Formats: sequence, structure tokens, C-alpha cells
Amino acid sequence: MTTDLEALTEHDMGEDCPVCRTQDLVDAILLPAAAAWEQRNGLARVSLALHGAAGLLGALLEEGVPREELERTLSELLDEIEQQILEDTTMGGPPQGTA
Ligand SMILES: [Zn+2]
Repeated sequence: MTTDLEALTEHDMGEDCPVCRTQDLVDAILLPAAAAWEQRNGLARVSLALHGAAGLLGALLEEGVPREELERTLSELLDEIEQQILEDTTMGGPPQGTA
């Protein structure tokens, strides 16, 4: 059985899009939980996020998913997040930088 990464990243544009629901869970639960664990254990900020993401994806490497495929998928997701940040800041988000 192979993991279809593409299917896991494609929005279905519906009200109940599984990709959006997953991203909402990450924002609402995973990010704050990781930050709390880091603080409680005296770890550097985002250290759990970084190693957590790498470790979780490493499990896929172990299953035989090619690294290039993982990197491409991750890169696409980061592009999407970057795009979202850009949209949020241009649509009246908090002022940032020297604009
Ligand atoms: Zn979606």
C-alpha cells in the first residue's frame, strides 16, 4: 500500500474539505499544544514543530515514500501557507515591516 500524498493535499472546495479541516485542527490544537510542550520542557520555540514534522514525515520515508515526493509535497504546502499569509496581510491584517 502506498500513501497518496497528492490526495492528502488537494482541496475539494467543498464546505467540508478534508484538507481545510486538517489545517484547522493543526492551527487550533497542534500548534498550541506543541508550544505548551516546548515551554513545559524548556525546549526552544518551534523545536517540536520542526522535529515533529520531520519525524512524522520520516515515518513515510521508512514506508518507502521517495524523499523527493515528500519534499515536493511539503514545498507545495509551504507555498500555500505563504500565499495565505500574503493574502491575510494584504487584506488588512496587522501592519508589519516598514510599509
Ligand atoms: Zn480545503
